[in-house]
Amino acid sequence: MGYLRKLGFKVSSRVGYFFPPAESGNSEKFKVTHIDPLWFTGGFDSLGDYIKSRTEDRETLPYEIDGLVIKVNETDVRDFLGFTGHHPRWAIAYKFESPEGITEVLDIDIQVGRTGRITPVARVSPVSIGGSTISNVTLHNQEYINILDLAVGDSVTVSKRGDVIPAVERVVEKNEKGYSVWKLPKSCPSCKAPLIVKGAHHFCPNNSCPAQVKGRIFFFIARNQMDIDGFGPETAEFLINKGFVKDIADIYSFDYSKLEGYPGFGSKKIKLLSEGVKKSITQPYRRVLPSLGIPEIGKKVAELLIQGGFRDVEDLFTIAESGDRESLLAIKGIGERIAEIIIEEFSSDSVIAMVEKLKNAGLNFIEEESSDLNDLLQVFEGQVWCITGSFENFKPRTLAGEEIVKRGGRTVSAVTGKTTHLLAGESS
Ligand SMILES: [Zn+2]
Repeated sequence: MGYLRKLGFKVSSRVGYFFPPAESGNSEKFKVTHIDPLWFTGGFDSLGDYIKSRTEDRETLPYEIDGLVIKVNETDVRDFLGFTGHHPRWAIAYKFESPEGITEVLDIDIQVGRTGRITPVARVSPVSIGGSTISNVTLHNQEYINILDLAVGDSVTVSKRGDVIPAVERVVEKNEKGYSVWKLPKSCPSCKAPLIVKGAHHFCPNNSCPAQVKGRIFFFIARNQMDIDGFGPETAEFLINKGFVKDIADIYSFDYSKLEGYPGFGSKKIKLLSEGVKKSITQPYRRVLPSLGIPEIGKKVAELLIQGGFRDVEDLFTIAESGDRESLLAIKGIGERIAEIIIEEFSSDSVIAMVEKLKNAGLNFIEEESSDLNDLLQVFEGQVWCITGSFENFKPRTLAGEEIVKRGGRTVSAVTGKTTHLLAGESS
């Protein structure tokens, strides 16, 4: 950082540099050059003071920070310490204490997720914490509520953990109305099926539960999943509420011309919608599989399965039928728990039926044998590029667009609010 500063880059002047005490005989070794005169320097014993002063002047900064990072400065020591499975041994984050506020729990609602998972959510009197107004706080599960000993009407302390996610920390005053600790109902609020317990959470076991179906459809059409043009959440909501679409597969069998005459569905919108749906049929298997919303089969696991040779969904059904855990465990990155879930899910009638329907609709359930294309890292995933001007190495410039698409990106012909990148060539 000192070197960058010397070159003229703007570098934070709020850095602290700490060295071992002189009596250790080591301080000479840790002399650094290019120290900014504004930087704090001191021995290890002054680290506490530094953290205290940074915590105090945090509010005066023109940008938000949620903590400090403490790192070993010597690169050879970093090499020596190395990494654990997920973090370096030579760096650690210091998080500031979360800002808190006191409010009252007005009610506790229940959300049913796309996998049937039940999440209680506290509706609280709007309270301002760390610059934003909080009125909903997740309570995770029954166990969490029991530990808090929480009832409707209680006054609670709410914090923004990591300064992002609001959490109920503790009850500060019990309600005076005599409400006792809140309990989850025995049945699903959406479909009335009796709830079951799996691990720490309650689940609605009914696969055709309206709340789950809605969640699955919303997940499936989303931009980072199947990315169906013209098919936004409002359209989905409308189609579900009208009963036109009852599950993912219905998206492909519904006759969109029937929407003619409904408010908001002009012929242009209908054309866009049905073309978007048609186009999404060509999405590759590596995108279809994680879009199905099968628990734990996200993009990462889908990619591991494909790279591990499971290029056809039928491979997964075969494995599930024979209970062949070993073949799954042979894939690096797939552990006991995921293997168990894959076998359970791909044995379930609902997953079998869903895949069957989508296959009939023409969706891809086989990833083509490894060609160069399949091995390209999807570095432009979720990005929208607009290309303009001309290029020496991409003639015509649509060749540049093809390279972007191969790597997971999308191209558009004009810049809109959704465009994330502009690639400008000569005379553009
Ligand atoms: Zn339900």
